Amino acid sequence: MKTPTTVLALVAAGGVVAALAGPATAAPNPTRGGPPPVGHEIPKVPVMTGGGGAVASVDPIASQVGIDILEKGGTAADAAVATAAAIATVEPYSSGIGGGGFFVHYDGQSKKVTTLDGRETAPATFHEKVFLNPDGTPMDFNTVVNSGLSVGAPGTAATWDVALKTYGSMSLNQILKPAEEIARKGFVVDQTFHQDTLDNAKRFSMFPATAQIYLPGGAPVPVGGVQRNPDLAKAYRELRTHGIASLHTGRMGAAIVEEVQDPTTAPGVTVPKGQLTAADLAAYKVRPKAPTHSEHKGFDVYGMDTPSSGGIAVSEILNLLESFEERTGRQVKDLSEAEYLHWFSEASAMAFADRNRYVGDVPGVPTAELTSQEFADERSCLFDPEKAQARPVPFGSPDGSYAGECAGSGTSLLPGDGGSTTSLTVADKWGDVVTYTLTIEQYGGSGIVVPGWGFLLNNELTDFNFAPTTPGVPDPNLPGAGKRPRSSMSPSIVLKDGRPYLTAGSPGGATIITTVAQIIAGVVDRGLSVGDAVAAPRLSSRNGAEEAERAIFATEIGAELRSKGHVLRDRPVIGNGTAIRSLSPSLWTAAAEPTRRGGGSAMVVDPQN
Ligand code: GLU
Repeated sequence: MKTPTTVLALVAAGGVVAALAGPATAAPNPTRGGPPPVGHEIPKVPVMTGGGGAVASVDPIASQVGIDILEKGGTAADAAVATAAAIATVEPYSSGIGGGGFFVHYDGQSKKVTTLDGRETAPATFHEKVFLNPDGTPMDFNTVVNSGLSVGAPGTAATWDVALKTYGSMSLNQILKPAEEIARKGFVVDQTFHQDTLDNAKRFSMFPATAQIYLPGGAPVPVGGVQRNPDLAKAYRELRTHGIASLHTGRMGAAIVEEVQDPTTAPGVTVPKGQLTAADLAAYKVRPKAPTHSEHKGFDVYGMDTPSSGGIAVSEILNLLESFEERTGRQVKDLSEAEYLHWFSEASAMAFADRNRYVGDVPGVPTAELTSQEFADERSCLFDPEKAQARPVPFGSPDGSYAGECAGSGTSLLPGDGGSTTSLTVADKWGDVVTYTLTIEQYGGSGIVVPGWGFLLNNELTDFNFAPTTPGVPDPNLPGAGKRPRSSMSPSIVLKDGRPYLTAGSPGGATIITTVAQIIAGVVDRGLSVGDAVAAPRLSSRNGAEEAERAIFATEIGAELRSKGHVLRDRPVIGNGTAIRSLSPSLWTAAAEPTRRGGGSAMVVDPQN
């Protein structure tokens, strides 16, 4: 994210930020006279093994915040919330208190996995046709993105609150202190952040409160400059002192509602108004939920149930791989890279067909059937080891009766997908683990910063399908009153004999599902180390688009896949994974990206020499 500078400041949980090396004036600082930034010569290390606890996130400042909390005796949940709050400061375009997410937790004592659904929620006035023009055609997608209409009631601050009260030992007041300090002092901008701002500059300039922070003087802060956000520091302070009530029933909430209903725009710019009300914010509830569960080769795979499709789809992909093994008599671990990716692509396309047809925030989603091995065994009859199925592949019948009928019924096409979000994971010395994926949907969300409060509002409601994706096929993901849009976020925890074995998560819109499934299959089926599984070249097949990174697309592996009928598209980067592999009850390997998006940050409390 940010480039190293000669200022090294580590964020300490209780008091925050002690400058450790180098003169504070050495960093280039365009906003003269301000406090020295939270710089980092904190090295970006993609893989680290050791004890005492572990954190993996996309940013070293944020991982350090988590490690500081663990060192102070915090739980995995304490550290996860503190890390998330810090990420929302140093990578503010991918998450924050204007958004939502899913928190998956394993309790070392009870040995149980539980989840929190902190997804954004549609206003009570929403209905199936809210994104249709008067003539019945879908509204222009980007117009809706950059507007009040795409903003759902945010769930992230409430998720932090519930996570701390349920699984934590520290208060929101303590936990948000480091992030508040980072927001106030700022961080040093690197190429990735600079480019993200440039990419968003046009739409940020539509909203003066956004431009004021991210386009000071009309342009993004240059690489090496300092990005500060005193308004966000104020918002964190407000949460610390008044609790999340301020956001749901208090003055921060009032500011959100005012801005959504009538966004403040630059002269000459008009955008659709939103429908969110104070009553919608007040009614918001984090939903504690049972996780999805499936068995895979003696491991227990846990993930996020609806409104995410992540847990269901990841389990179905893994079940299908197991079923293909049964049918072919071959093992995934013995396949060549191209053979494996063919299997993986076929499994993914089938899982996406079922996800698109059956999964949404509606009653009666057949989660247990979709994640059952029997359903996958019936589905796998369509698999040909030599040839890709024609896309889109049909969806199956998760009806509990798997007598072996081998016909799919109808098709369900891929809806659009985004590319933002962040995922982090933490383990503590008591054996608790967390995987937490949070988002504001697109990079930069709706583009609207709440004036005076410094955080971007989500555009999560564009995750609804604007119109049914396939005529004549029921669509569980149409907008509705108080409904939560379907997500692909897939924070996952894999257990072996009841103990943590692996955690995994990633951003990347619908590619999240394939990235997380690839990380889990990489470790469990292919026998890779967790670092290698995160770094491995990725392919994302989603029952329509089939994308591959260069190490697949432009090599013999891609050629072999094409010879089997795969129509690949070049996508330079897929996902931004984080994972932790538990090697023993007191030893972990944390893993983040070595290179994608400038690389992530893995840390442990006591590194092994
Ligand atoms: N809004 C997306 C989802 O919930 C995530 C955004 C992204 O990663 O692009 O699936």
